[in-house]
Amino acid sequence: MAEIQCQGCGAVIQTTNPEEAGYAPASALEREDIICKRCFRLKHYNEVQDVPFQDDDFLEMLNQISDTKGLVVQLVDIFDFNGSFISGLKRLTGNNPVILVGNKMDVLPKSVNHGKVKHWLKRSAKENGLEVEDVYLISAEKNQGIQQLSQAIDHYREDGDVYVVGTTNVGKSTFINTLISNTSGVKDAITTSYFPGTTLGFIDIPLDEKSSLYDTPGVIQRHQMAHYVSDKDLKLITPRKEVKPKVYQLNEEQTLFVGGLARLDFEAGERSSFVCHFSNELTIHRTKLEKADELYKNHVGELLTPPDQVTIKKLPPLKGHTLKIKEDKTDIVFSGLGWVTVPEGGITVTAHVPEGVKVSLRESLI
Ligand code: GDP
Repeated sequence: MAEIQCQGCGAVIQTTNPEEAGYAPASALEREDIICKRCFRLKHYNEVQDVPFQDDDFLEMLNQISDTKGLVVQLVDIFDFNGSFISGLKRLTGNNPVILVGNKMDVLPKSVNHGKVKHWLKRSAKENGLEVEDVYLISAEKNQGIQQLSQAIDHYREDGDVYVVGTTNVGKSTFINTLISNTSGVKDAITTSYFPGTTLGFIDIPLDEKSSLYDTPGVIQRHQMAHYVSDKDLKLITPRKEVKPKVYQLNEEQTLFVGGLARLDFEAGERSSFVCHFSNELTIHRTKLEKADELYKNHVGELLTPPDQVTIKKLPPLKGHTLKIKEDKTDIVFSGLGWVTVPEGGITVTAHVPEGVKVSLRESLI
């Protein structure tokens, strides 16, 4: 079969894998102007579907931004900064200004201080080599903070183009769909067009006569917790509602299991409270440290669930990271799952997560 390119985004049309770029149902091949399913949905329903690309393709594509002038808007998931931050973005996007957007603010507990979240996002970006112009918190799903962000985008883009980038699952499609539906009258103006010079295109959403907002495909970060778990488990571990903190008073040599996906051993220190911030659907089990290994071995996938049986097959083994917590009010962050706040420093813990998933400490957000 001769290679056919999507008239919208330029991806090579294929009919076999709905999850990959350029997918179109076989029936679409009979039409004159063939477009992929993703472009079809955008054109007819104003809906953006995300198409993940392999890292290298994606990074190469992003690199093209460095040859153009435009504002880069990077979306991250507040619950998964390490898993959703694209490292090397500075190198990839050149001297273009970057706005960092923390999505899913609707699930943050009320007690969380938004100023601190922004500060932490900004500092974390800097630690990863990226100076950002500004940080915004939004809920793409609940349409919160979008107006303020739109104004900032308009300000920083200086009449130029805008590139929205993010890893899969940060809510980029939801964000763009919200943005489109907020902008009245734009419905008919939406076109999809081939971004010159790319083999796989960016989706082009015109902002005015001269400039556009480009939706770039979502990058896959392999160490994201989301990729290690089944769809069913992903639903459980992803907070859908405001996270309700759960408090545990622990003595040293006690352990908390977060389902069977993570484990926190209180190795040494005075009796202390551990405030857990995870999806409300996740069950936390307390046990003695000396019994923890055996409990895990005998009950992972049953009492300690998620993981379910599908996840167990692909989940890397848990790996321990020992952390000495010096400062009061510290969060132990389990990337892609949530965090545990310890009010007082001077304790030692070991946090276990699937190998490759990150654990870090930060000043408490509360
Ligand atoms: P993409 O892969 O980056 O395009 O992400 P999607 O837009 O498909 O969203 C990924 C998941 O995050 C979906 O389950 C969304 O429902 C959810 N999501 C997106 N935005 C928000 C948000 O603002 N708040 C919450 N709680 N969930 C969101």
